[in-house]
Amino acid sequence: MCAHKPEIVVAGGGIAGAAIALFLSRLNANVIVLEGRPGRPTFAEGGILMLAPNGMHVLGGLGLARTLLQRDSGVQVPWITINDSAGGHIGKVPQGSEERYGFASTMVMRSDLHDVLLDEVERKRLDVKWNAQVQSIEESDDGVLVRWIQDGLPHEKKADLLIGADGTWSTVRPSMYDCLGLSVPTPEYSGLVGLGALTNIDSVPGLSDLLTPDRPCVMIHGRQGFVGMAIFDRERKKVGWWTTHEAPNRTREEWKIPKKEALVKMRERYSDWAFPVPQLIAAAEASDDQLFVWPVFQVRKLERWHSRRTVLIGDAAHAMPPHSGQGASQALEDAGYLAYLLRAQIESAVSGTKELDWTPLLAQFQMDRQPRVNEIVDEANRRGSMKKDQSVLGYMMKKWIMWIMFMFMRESWGDGWFGYKVPGIDEW
Ligand SMILES: Cc1cc2nc3c(=O)[nH]c(=O)nc-3n(C[C@H](O)[C@H](O)[C@H](O)COP(=O)(O)OP(=O)(O)OC[C@H]3O[C@@H](n4cnc5c(N)ncnc54)[C@H](O)[C@@H]3O)c2cc1C
Repeated sequence: MCAHKPEIVVAGGGIAGAAIALFLSRLNANVIVLEGRPGRPTFAEGGILMLAPNGMHVLGGLGLARTLLQRDSGVQVPWITINDSAGGHIGKVPQGSEERYGFASTMVMRSDLHDVLLDEVERKRLDVKWNAQVQSIEESDDGVLVRWIQDGLPHEKKADLLIGADGTWSTVRPSMYDCLGLSVPTPEYSGLVGLGALTNIDSVPGLSDLLTPDRPCVMIHGRQGFVGMAIFDRERKKVGWWTTHEAPNRTREEWKIPKKEALVKMRERYSDWAFPVPQLIAAAEASDDQLFVWPVFQVRKLERWHSRRTVLIGDAAHAMPPHSGQGASQALEDAGYLAYLLRAQIESAVSGTKELDWTPLLAQFQMDRQPRVNEIVDEANRRGSMKKDQSVLGYMMKKWIMWIMFMFMRESWGDGWFGYKVPGIDEW
């Protein structure tokens, strides 16, 4: 029997880590979060991201969906408009409306989503150790020993459970695979890079007529790349835009491409595209806007998401390519579902009615979550391959296929992704 409160360590205080810590704070457990960054981000880190209805429902379970929607960023995107690089209209893709799913897909700044979670973590006075870089783990029958460096000093703690929510470049993942005696896949560059900025909409005359509340997000496919753009602040002062195209791999240091160099290359690649692509690039060149550079790294599908007392969630378990618009939503779903399984076990263990057995619970987590996540990763990769360079014929065929597909696409097409609700999410 486990008569004591379980000790749970969460590695990583990003989207998945902050969310699972908040769920666990409602259970009879002692939780600490180890986050490698020195403190809360002091500037708007990351660009914009789409939070889908399925992710919004998880935030709703934490009582934070309305809080997010009250912030400056947050524009509903029930449909995405797809154009070609010559300015022609290809079609519209349903993205999830409020009427159908209770929440609409919402374009937000990643930093706003993160802030809402971290504000709540602070409000609840959860134990977050900043500047705490997890180094390694060691498992035994009675616990998992977590070692980390904090402010330059080594620390360790024996916990009942470790949740690895430390993202694509997870340290917990290889350490857990060591414990399992298995070899671990490492992040691999996909060949695609995303670059983008948040730009004043007025700096591109005519752009506010293209991006409107009825047409908040436009995605443009060309032969040599892809450009997406969306309004995301309620005052419609800004446009978030990004390009995705092929680029050779670089070292981590080399990916810190100077803004000027990146924009010159971008200008050359997209010079013959229709309005507003060259104009957006020119506006970014003329401004002080920060340029985000986002090389897309993937991790081969993992055989194991867990060991005896360690489990991976979010990008640590399934580095989600950005092309599905589901990275944050799947991280939130993982947190909500793991918390759902833990709730039942912890309650009965603490009351002494049932022994706490972590491994079957973690196996169930992987078994239930992995098929859904794999399907989304496959679709993301399929969409990513459409952003690679194409021959004239290949591009023509792509446009025709999209045109026919979108013509017959109804809102119900998105039910599987957007209509999903994590079990028990309304009972927190
Ligand atoms: C700075 C940043 C900007 C992003 N911007 C975008 C974007 O614009 N658009 C988009 O679609 N997606 C973006 N993403 C990715 C998106 O947020 C994730 O796909 C999604 O939210 C998954 O969340 P996660 O919590 O699993 O991973 P993350 O959000 O990556 O969180 C992982 C956390 O773990 C911490 N960490 C890593 N290693 C360790 C360690 N050894 N010890 C302790 N802590 C550790 C990291 O500092 C980070 O806070 C961004 C991610 C980050 C970190």
